[in-house]
Amino acid sequence: MNRTLLTDSHMHTINSPDGRNTPKEMVQRARILGLKHITITDHCEVDQYFTHGYVRSVPKAYADADRLRRTVADPEVLVGIEIGQATTSFALCDGLLAKNNYDFVLASVHHLPNTIDFYKLAADYHGAVFLLKRYYAELLRVVEWGNFDVLAHVTYPMRAIEKGRHFTIPRTLYQQELDRVLRAAIAAGKGIEVNTQGGYLMPDVGTLIRFRELGGQYVTIGSDAHSADALGVGLQEGLQRIKDAGFDKITYYRRRKPIQLPLE
Ligand SMILES: [Zn+2]
Ligand SMILES: [Zn+2]
Repeated sequence: MNRTLLTDSHMHTINSPDGRNTPKEMVQRARILGLKHITITDHCEVDQYFTHGYVRSVPKAYADADRLRRTVADPEVLVGIEIGQATTSFALCDGLLAKNNYDFVLASVHHLPNTIDFYKLAADYHGAVFLLKRYYAELLRVVEWGNFDVLAHVTYPMRAIEKGRHFTIPRTLYQQELDRVLRAAIAAGKGIEVNTQGGYLMPDVGTLIRFRELGGQYVTIGSDAHSADALGVGLQEGLQRIKDAGFDKITYYRRRKPIQLPLE
């Protein structure tokens, strides 16, 4: 793998509640790893915006990352945001995005509205199937809103389902719902990411192939690191998975426009 191609489009800093290192420390680590383009994507959990400090951390995350964008040449620093639960208030999201000059917007669903945590809900087979259908319905609402660039970890509940469980969910049980999301995202010119957090890769190669077959073009890659030592973990395997799915390019975003790099 040609290391000069390496980009990491998903990471968190101390400006996320669960991040451990400063933006500057993330940049220093990226330089050591030889990354050429990094996008800082601190959390904005819209359902917790006024209750968990995002009202302060989101503007600070933007200001800190923007300062690095203007002052650091190597790696190129891009300013992103990971918006969770946008369905809570699309108006709030649109306002934030209009105010700041982001390079990249990731959209996530980490929780369903008024529902217990994915991990608990996925405890049994029927709970897991119910969860996946609800999850994709919620994700479809996010796609229909549309003010984002890429869907983060599109098969997110699978991690909760697969970890420590002794069952797998046949794809046929949720393929229709997933396809609906992928088709809508593709029609709107959106991408999906390969998320390599902790070496657990999402989505599976089958989902990536489906995305390509339906006409999807934009696939980003991100380690979703919450600390400097987790930066870049799994990227090589993620790039391989993207190639295995038949893509010959990866994408990152600058000023909300996709930039594609050939995969070698
Ligand atoms: Zn996430
Ligand atoms: Zn994240």
